[in-house]
Amino acid sequence: MAEATKRRILNFHGIGTPRRALEPGEADFWLREERFLLILDKIANHPDRDRLSITFDDGNTSDLSIAAPALLDRGLRAEFFVLTGRIGETGSLDSDDIRALMQMGMSIGSHGVAHRDWSTLPTIDLQYELTASKATLEEICKITIGSAAIPFGRYNAAVLKALRSAGYSTAYSSDGGSAEPLTYLRPRSSLRHSTTDDALENVVSGRMPPLKRLRRFAGMSARAWL
Ligand SMILES: [Zn+2]
Repeated sequence: MAEATKRRILNFHGIGTPRRALEPGEADFWLREERFLLILDKIANHPDRDRLSITFDDGNTSDLSIAAPALLDRGLRAEFFVLTGRIGETGSLDSDDIRALMQMGMSIGSHGVAHRDWSTLPTIDLQYELTASKATLEEICKITIGSAAIPFGRYNAAVLKALRSAGYSTAYSSDGGSAEPLTYLRPRSSLRHSTTDDALENVVSGRMPPLKRLRRFAGMSARAWL
């Protein structure tokens, strides 16, 4: 399948001013509101709009206060991956917020409990991250939660196996590039404060420089099978 015909999944984190203390290195993943709205306009007006998907990680309050209304204004929908350990904390979504997102036509998935690197966790802790977050969200949303976004994009074969065992039918990584429709593991491109207009254009159009593509393929293959 040609790259241009595949899906591209754009991943966002926080928008605007954070309402909580950020993790080390997190600030670059927050976008100014004007920049975010400009990117949404680009997506909404793109000829391949139907092949572009949008996700949000971490469950920041900006998901509901900024992102969701802006998506609706443009006829767009997105999937929001929530950290259940932060639900109700200052700066993070609470249960009512999560239900409000659903009522606006948005989808909800798990990002785990405590934003840990799943690839380094002992099996029992990994299982807890996957099953406890799923159960909490199912209690709040009253629907089956079938998708998860892997924190920091760090995974290996054990993580993918544990996700399947915990009942997830879709796992989102951060490997960049394009995604085959309906595959289990779906690579996303995370947009950062430092993402240039050229890099943004490559993400939206599904273009990837050849060397980057080769590295990505090698990395994904190693993580999935070794
Ligand atoms: Zn995250």
